[in-house]
Amino acid sequence: MTHVFHRQLNTTLPRAVSARGISITDADGKSYLDASGGAAVSCLGHAHPDVLAAMHEQIDRVAYAHTSFFTTDVAEELAADLIEHAPAGMSHAYFVSGGSEAVEAALKMARQYFVEIGQLQRRHFIARRQSYHGNTLGALAVGGNQWRRAQFAPLLMAVTHVSPCYEYRDRQPGETPEQYGARLVQELAGVIETLGADSVIAFVAETVVGATAGALTPVPGYLRGVRELCDRHGILLVLDEVMSGMGRTGTLHACEQEHVVPDLMTIAKGLGGGYQPIGAVLAQGRIVDTFARGSGLFQHGHTYIGHPVACAAALAVQRVIRRDGLLAAVRRQGQALTSRLQATFGDHPHVGDIRGRGLFQAIELVRDRADKTPFDAGLKLHARIKRQAMQCGLMVYPMGGTIDGQRGDHVLLAPPFIVTDGELDAIVERLARAVAGALEGLPAG
Ligand code: PMP
Repeated sequence: MTHVFHRQLNTTLPRAVSARGISITDADGKSYLDASGGAAVSCLGHAHPDVLAAMHEQIDRVAYAHTSFFTTDVAEELAADLIEHAPAGMSHAYFVSGGSEAVEAALKMARQYFVEIGQLQRRHFIARRQSYHGNTLGALAVGGNQWRRAQFAPLLMAVTHVSPCYEYRDRQPGETPEQYGARLVQELAGVIETLGADSVIAFVAETVVGATAGALTPVPGYLRGVRELCDRHGILLVLDEVMSGMGRTGTLHACEQEHVVPDLMTIAKGLGGGYQPIGAVLAQGRIVDTFARGSGLFQHGHTYIGHPVACAAALAVQRVIRRDGLLAAVRRQGQALTSRLQATFGDHPHVGDIRGRGLFQAIELVRDRADKTPFDAGLKLHARIKRQAMQCGLMVYPMGGTIDGQRGDHVLLAPPFIVTDGELDAIVERLARAVAGALEGLPAG
C-alpha cells in the first residue's frame, strides 16, 4: 500500500534504498546502473563525498534564509562561479528550485524586459514543436509535446510553434545540413513576419533537445542563424539548457559549441546533480540593468529561491567538475559511448539513428530503417524497453512518439560524468538485451 502520489498510480515501483557512484540499489538488493542520471540529473553519480560535506556544512551554518531578508555567502559564491564561466555578457544568476521554475522565470523576465523599455506590445513567444520546457502552465505552453499538452490546452497561453531541428527525419535528400538549417531559419522568419516582428518577445528553444526526441543536436549554423534573426528584430533568444547544459554535452554550456550567446539561459538538473532541487536563469547584464534602472524589481519570486543548501550542493558539484577535469571526461567517455553504441546498434535493423553529444546520446527505434517508419505509437515500444531495462538492472530514459504520433521511439542515455569504460560496456550490453527483449513478441508488419 502506498500513500505517495507519484506520477503513475497503478504501477508498483521498486524502492530505492541506497545509491552509490553510478548505481542505485532497491529494497530487494537488486542493483541498477544509472545510465540516464535519473533524467539527466546525476552528473557526479550518487553519494559524492565532497557534495555531501558541503551540504552538511551549509546546513550547520544557515539552512534557510528568505531572500526578501537576506542573501547568503553561498548563493553569492555560486552566482559568481556561474557568471565567471557563463557565455559573454551574462551578469546575473536567478536561482529557483528546478527546470520548470527556471523556464517560468525566464518567460516573465523576457516580458518584463520589454515592459521596462516601453515595448508593451510585445506579447508573443515562439517555440518549437518537438520540445519540452517543463510541466507548469507557462512552460507547458511553450513546450511542443502534444501528449503532455493535450488535456490542458484550453488553459495554455497561445504560443506559435515552428519546426524543430530534426535532421534524421526532416532534412531533405540533396539538402546539406547547412541548407536545412537555413530553411528552418527562413520558416522562423516567416512566422515572425506574420505575427509582426515588434509583437514577439522571444524565441525559446532547447540547445540540444532532450525529453521529447532524445539528444537532437542542431545542424551547423542553425542557432547562429536564429540568433541573427532575433537580433535583427530585437527579439530575445531564450535557450533552455535545463537538460543539455552544465557539462552534459562536453562543454559547460551546450551553446558554446554553437558559438551562440543567448539573452537568457535556463539551467537545472546537472547544476545540483540531484543532491538538491535547484535551477537558475542566467541573464544578460543588459536585461538586469534595465530592471535595476527601471522598477528596481523582478516581479516574481518563490519561497525557496536561492536556497542555501541547494546553492551549497550546486557549488560543490561545479567545483568537483572543474577540479577533476570532468568536462574532458564527458568528451572522452562520450566518444567511448558512441563507439560502443555504433558497434552494437550500427547495423541493427530497428535502430534508425544513433546521435547526441558528450554523455547525452540516444538511439531512435524504427520499424523499417530504409523508410524510417516508426513503430505504431500504440505499441509503446519505449515503455517496453524501459521495463526490460529495469529487469536487466539498467536505468535509461525512453520516450515515445509525441508529435503527431509519428516520430517514433527513442532511448536517451545520460550517464554520470564519472562513468568508466567497464560501466559503459555493461550499459550498452544491458541496453542491447533490453531492446531485444522489448522487440520480441511485437506484432509483425
Ligand atoms: N526544460 C527542459 C529542457 C527539460 O528537459 C526539463 C525536464 N525534463 C524541464 C525544462 C523541466 O524541468 P523540471 O522537471 O526540473 O521542472
